[in-house]
Amino acid sequence: MTELEGFRLLPGYLSGAGQDRLIDEIVDVVTKAPFYIPTMPRTGKPMSVEMTNCGPLGWVTDKEGGYRYQAMHPATNRAWPPIPRTLLDIWNDVCDYPQSPEACLINHYRPSARMGLHKDSDEKDFSAPVVSISIGCAALFRIGGPGRKDPTRSIRLGSGDVVVLGGTARLAYHGVDRILAGTSTRLDAYREVFSGGGRLNLTLRRVTVP
Ligand code: FE
Repeated sequence: MTELEGFRLLPGYLSGAGQDRLIDEIVDVVTKAPFYIPTMPRTGKPMSVEMTNCGPLGWVTDKEGGYRYQAMHPATNRAWPPIPRTLLDIWNDVCDYPQSPEACLINHYRPSARMGLHKDSDEKDFSAPVVSISIGCAALFRIGGPGRKDPTRSIRLGSGDVVVLGGTARLAYHGVDRILAGTSTRLDAYREVFSGGGRLNLTLRRVTVP
């Protein structure tokens, strides 16, 4: 596949200590905004990942309302907790977008979870990148191009890796083929929060046009 403009992989961006600090911050978020199982628009089919959010807005999906951003957790009806400092620092470091992200979608992939090919297009401002942080077991990430039929390639994302989807890559199709169970012990101490261990993926997004 030819080089995808705007795609950046930053392997090992976060140190072990940096990952542990981030996990602690996410554990704190999850105590206030617990994981829930999202459902697909129209069919109501449950997704295989657990989700929650932090930030002024959160990405949600359910049978009735479909894909959208909203200010409240769908189960608790409370505002999402703020985006932790560590994540805002990553955003400021890896992209030169002048405003803060408004949403951080927190996906927990149990070892059997996956994510079908899709593009992130529910935001209003595509000039901001999507910044993705991987923690825990590695994932086989698939990324193509702006068209659904564009050729794709598979990339292994390990704990502490950061991906930036900007430019042309901002609207590229992507997904997670599978989780490589047993490739990290990073989440093992938090099995009560992240049931089954697996992988955490945090994606920072700007939603509205400033
Ligand atoms: Fe996505």
